[in-house]
Amino acid sequence: TTTATRELLLSRIRDVHDHPEPGIVFKDITPLLADPAAFAALTGTFAEMCARLGATKIVGLEARGFILAAPVAVSAGVGFIPVRKAGKLPGATLRQAYELEYGTAEIEVHAEDLAPGDRVLVIDDVLATGGTAEASLELIRRAGAEVVGVAVLMELGFLQGRARLEPALGGAPLEAV
Ligand code: AMP
Repeated sequence: TTTATRELLLSRIRDVHDHPEPGIVFKDITPLLADPAAFAALTGTFAEMCARLGATKIVGLEARGFILAAPVAVSAGVGFIPVRKAGKLPGATLRQAYELEYGTAEIEVHAEDLAPGDRVLVIDDVLATGGTAEASLELIRRAGAEVVGVAVLMELGFLQGRARLEPALGGAPLEAV
């Protein structure tokens, strides 16, 4: 990403203080989505990464990851696979639990969507604690597929998601724009 593109993208993320709870600074990407030049620059950056890593499938993480990942899959000419919160997918699934700050959460993927030989790029908007991304990497590995990278718009560095994700990445890159 060029500095100009990066600045454009970051300028279209709105900080919403105390949402959804007091003390949280929520990174709202809706201004970026509403700006066609910024949205195209972001999906172009992700599509470039997809080509560079030789990804053959793109996994998007519910819900904002879907919005970013789907156009990348179309432009890169690879399949889009949704990883959803547990209980939403109708078919046979693989399910993975992970730790939240308080309690646990579970995500799922359709078992038939991933197979050995697939090279998967995971896309989401924000990497916070890294718990969701880490669980998605577990799902992909359990399906026998290979993770070739994780792409996010931004990383909340103070939460140290990168360190949490590192072991599950197994050497694959984690890139923020
Ligand atoms: P985590 O599992 O902690 O890395 O959280 C990742 C998920 O929560 C991502 O799908 C993000 O979209 C969302 N998320 C967490 N923190 C924030 C935040 N401060 N602003 C916007 N989204 C967030």
